Amino acid sequence: LAQVREQAMGKHIELTSALDPAAGECTADRRAVQQIMINLLSNAVKFTPEGGTVKVTSHAQDGYLVLKVADSGIGISENDLARIGQPFYQAQSDYTRAFEGTGLGLSLVRGLLELHQGGMSIESETVKGTTVTVRLPLTGPEKARGAKPVKLSERRPHVLPQGVEGNGDGYDTAIRRTA
Ligand code: ADP
Repeated sequence: LAQVREQAMGKHIELTSALDPAAGECTADRRAVQQIMINLLSNAVKFTPEGGTVKVTSHAQDGYLVLKVADSGIGISENDLARIGQPFYQAQSDYTRAFEGTGLGLSLVRGLLELHQGGMSIESETVKGTTVTVRLPLTGPEKARGAKPVKLSERRPHVLPQGVEGNGDGYDTAIRRTA
């Protein structure tokens, strides 16, 4: 949220979150999850016109952490929806193509989620907006179960580049749009 807040404010987009604390903990690669959220949030802000809304929610359901990024933006047509998430695929609309991008963000999200044995689904309606739902198994991918978790205290703190805001725990990694 901190990474897209400034961009959202510049477009007068209301950026909110409702995270259910009862969801507890999820075993996953922290950096991968940050990358997933950055890609989804920057798309949401990018494809939402002035004065819109972007909302992040999270809760636990049936053993999965469910994260949703919902925007009130331009949406994705049914035609494009079938192909969105394929590498380099970008929807064709004048508004969309007024923005730069590579068409790799969502395919990267999909790949990272597959590695976690999670998944992604997209609901969208043109003009009304888009909701991307991400699911991550709370206990982590099968292969990683039983692996020794890395304690934060055993990791070396990262020094963030100037101008990049961390969450203050000293262990943030600089994450950029796409990868
Ligand atoms: P990029 O944003 O770099 O073009 P992505 O893989 O992240 O690449 O997204 C692919 C395409 O999917 C975008 O170009 C855009 O057409 C569409 N898209 C992604 N997220 C949204 C969204 N929240 N609202 C509308 N269109 C979206």
